[in-house]
Amino acid sequence: MERVERRQCRQLGAGALLCVGAAFYSLAVLLAGPAGAATPVATVPQGGMARWSGLAAKECGIFGRRYPAVDAACYYPIDLAAPPGRHQIALWDQDGKRHVGYAQVEEGDFAEEEIELPPELRRYIDVSPEDAARAAKEHGVVTKILNGKGGPPRFSLPLGKPAASLPKGDDNFGSTRTFNGKVKSLHTGRDYPVSLGTEVKAVADGTVLLVVDHFFTGQAVYVDHGGGLVSMAFHLKSVAVKEGDEVKRGAALGQVGSSGRATGPHLHFGLRWQGKRIDPALLLGAPTALPGIGEQSGSEAKKAPPSKKKPKPTAKPADDEG
Ligand SMILES: [Zn+2]
Repeated sequence: MERVERRQCRQLGAGALLCVGAAFYSLAVLLAGPAGAATPVATVPQGGMARWSGLAAKECGIFGRRYPAVDAACYYPIDLAAPPGRHQIALWDQDGKRHVGYAQVEEGDFAEEEIELPPELRRYIDVSPEDAARAAKEHGVVTKILNGKGGPPRFSLPLGKPAASLPKGDDNFGSTRTFNGKVKSLHTGRDYPVSLGTEVKAVADGTVLLVVDHFFTGQAVYVDHGGGLVSMAFHLKSVAVKEGDEVKRGAALGQVGSSGRATGPHLHFGLRWQGKRIDPALLLGAPTALPGIGEQSGSEAKKAPPSKKKPKPTAKPADDEG
């Protein structure tokens, strides 16, 4: 990347730029633009998302998928277990012209949590063969719908909040959990400390894909928002919608509870976009905070995120149970 930028400086005939610092490299990237020799790039952690705006995007592509832009910008969801390294991305503008860039995927910084379940939740530790078979069947049902139905996006970013007041919870997206020292699980959403009975809201217009009462997730609602985006709320006390219902942003989906494997009432909120497991907090915040393709300076694009937590285990558990 650095060499490409230097070459670009020479092509611009601005030889004097070669001897100065990162700010001028950044300038070179801006001058080159997406059609220039410097290929635009952004560094994204696993479970994160890159944004490419300013090119009147119509469609976007990554990992062999092509899908519609949202409000003329492309978003590239990176699964929490996506292999680190450089992944090519594409953007098709309103004239059908294809622009190519890269997402530089860095290892995510995920927590490890030890959770002690009380004796009354023992069935989630010593899972009976019947419960294990039930959970496997339910996992299959959910897996089928997580890519969404596609079609045009029915949302803008940021999404609406899934509860009127959403206190910041633990930073537990992507955490590997060990329950009572023996059962491992991968946490693919976020837990918000919202009190029992609080109304859970649709984060955007959509169609209710699935309303279930599953072994691990308890009463849960899955909503399709078009464009390959699916939102989910787990451990509900009650559900106010049924499968096939059309909902508007802010509509009541149900109430916060502690059904399924939950140590107490809270809202588990999760998102899949293009089937990728991404940190839902990213779509609840300003999209301009996401790493922008071609907007980072050379030094920023190469910098690895600081590590603040324990290293993650080599193998992640496969399940996703709230
Ligand atoms: Zn959860």
